[in-house]
Amino acid sequence: MEFTSFMDQALEEARAAAARGEVPVGAVLVGPDGAIVARAGNRTRELSDPSAHAEMLVIREACAATGSERLPDHDLYVTLEPCPMCAAVIGAARLRRLYYGASDPKSGGVAQGPRVFAHPQCHHVPEVYDGIAGAASEALLKEFFAARR
Ligand SMILES: [Zn+2]
Repeated sequence: MEFTSFMDQALEEARAAAARGEVPVGAVLVGPDGAIVARAGNRTRELSDPSAHAEMLVIREACAATGSERLPDHDLYVTLEPCPMCAAVIGAARLRRLYYGASDPKSGGVAQGPRVFAHPQCHHVPEVYDGIAGAASEALLKEFFAARR
C-alpha cells in the first residue's frame, strides 16, 4: 500500500486548537483500513483537563468507538513529539506506528527526556517516525507563543 501522510490533517487540528487559545498541537488516528478514525487538537483549557492532549483525545475516542482498550494496527500522526504521558498511553494502546512532527526539547518523552519507549518497562514499542512536517509544526508553535508574550 502506498504511504499517505495524514500530517496535513493533524496540522489543521493544531491550527484549530490555536484558534481556541489552546497550545497548537493536533493529532489524527488512522485505522487498519487507512481511514481516519479520530482527529483532535489540544483541549486542556477548554476541558480544564491537563490530560486532554490531542493524542489522548483521539485514542480515547477510538477506544470508546471500538469498545477496546487496545488499538492494534492503528497509526497516530501528531504534530509535536508526544509527552511522557501520551507516549505511555500510545504504548498501552498498542498503536502500530507513531508519526510526529517537531521535536519537543521542553516536554517530549520519546526522543528525549524520559524516552518512554526505550524503557524495559514499556510493553509495546510502536514504530516511530519523526520530523514529518516538523518545520510547519514548529512554526505554528513559535507563532502561538510569540503572540502570547
Ligand atoms: Zn501529551
